Amino acid sequence: MKAFQFVRPRSSTEAAQGLADSADARVHSGGCDLLDRMKERIEEPAVLVSLCDAEGLGDVRIEEDGSIWIGARVTLAQLAESDVVRRFLPTLGEAAGLAASPQLRHRATIAGNLAQHTRCGYYRVKSFPCLKRGGDSCPVRADGGVQDTAGIFGNAACASAHPSSLAPVLGSLDAEIAIRDAKTLRFVAFADFWAAPAKGRASDTILKSGEVIEAVRLPARDAKQHVGFAEIRQKKAFDWALVSCAVRYETDAEGRVTQARAWLGSVAPAPYRATKAEAALVGKAVTDEVAVKVGDAALADATPLAGTTYKVQLAKVALKRALAAAREKA
Ligand SMILES: Cc1cc2nc3c(=O)[nH]c(=O)nc-3n(C[C@H](O)[C@H](O)[C@H](O)COP(=O)(O)OP(=O)(O)OC[C@H]3O[C@@H](n4cnc5c(N)ncnc54)[C@H](O)[C@@H]3O)c2cc1C
Repeated sequence: MKAFQFVRPRSSTEAAQGLADSADARVHSGGCDLLDRMKERIEEPAVLVSLCDAEGLGDVRIEEDGSIWIGARVTLAQLAESDVVRRFLPTLGEAAGLAASPQLRHRATIAGNLAQHTRCGYYRVKSFPCLKRGGDSCPVRADGGVQDTAGIFGNAACASAHPSSLAPVLGSLDAEIAIRDAKTLRFVAFADFWAAPAKGRASDTILKSGEVIEAVRLPARDAKQHVGFAEIRQKKAFDWALVSCAVRYETDAEGRVTQARAWLGSVAPAPYRATKAEAALVGKAVTDEVAVKVGDAALADATPLAGTTYKVQLAKVALKRALAAAREKA
């Protein structure tokens, strides 16, 4: 690995300033993803601005208006164990507790989890051309390309899949991302946090250099809302989900859905909001038959490659399971 300078600012503002001062600096939280990329030499920053000593980033707290504030440095293990998360955001605790492995969950942070880069094998190996690393096209899509973990939506230019299994949960809960630069703190709706793949753009987020995620904010949860999470993996640990799904809905007195959110993970270059699933849910009571129709609606626009047709069925199953879980959890 190329030598680099490691700086430990005491606040997120100082960190943002440190990033703004050097074009060749990167934010470091748990390092689970960033250090992998550096060891693979697909990134060789001169400076790592670590958040490990920055104050005020390590808490989960309930704000006066009932919203929940999760500091950028909160680890997946902390999320899984937090009483606040278990009580108010059970699907988030569940997703965090299932991710990766115990060792990784104790290092990996919520901010790094959202800003992690794709695990696409072509992106991760420097000797392959890759659109995200400045190449002209996506080798996954080429004849003979290895496609098994690729995306099935939005894959015309780049068939990568965003690997976060927390992301669909945060989408379903209408999270906002608090972003700090050297002068201001702004809030971005979860759906607006993602950037489409482009030549030479490795990151999947809208973050600019000189910006850090300070926290994830979740609106106060109405106890009547149904929430559910499901994911499908090849291995139970030390692996990424093939597909993950989170749903949230409210019902009227007759049990019919009045408002719904459905998000899928690992199916597109960014977390994917399944708006057709949401539309198919509204006005219906959630039964197994309805769940099948919702799955068909959600995947109607999928554009799988030859190697990813199986993901269409997997996503339908994940959606059905998430809806079944949500029926139980009001
Ligand atoms: C074997 C294995 C299995 C895994 N399984 C899963 C899984 O099942 N589900 C899942 O969701 N993930 C999984 N992961 C991914 C893992 O959860 C992420 O790598 C981890 O969450 C990244 O967090 P981090 O704090 O270590 O980030 P870092 O490595 O520190 O950073 C990751 C990226 O985010 C940027 N970044 C970090 N913090 C900030 C910030 N505050 N503001 C702006 N940018 C920031 C960094 O610059 C970097 O680009 C797995 C990883 C491995 C190795």
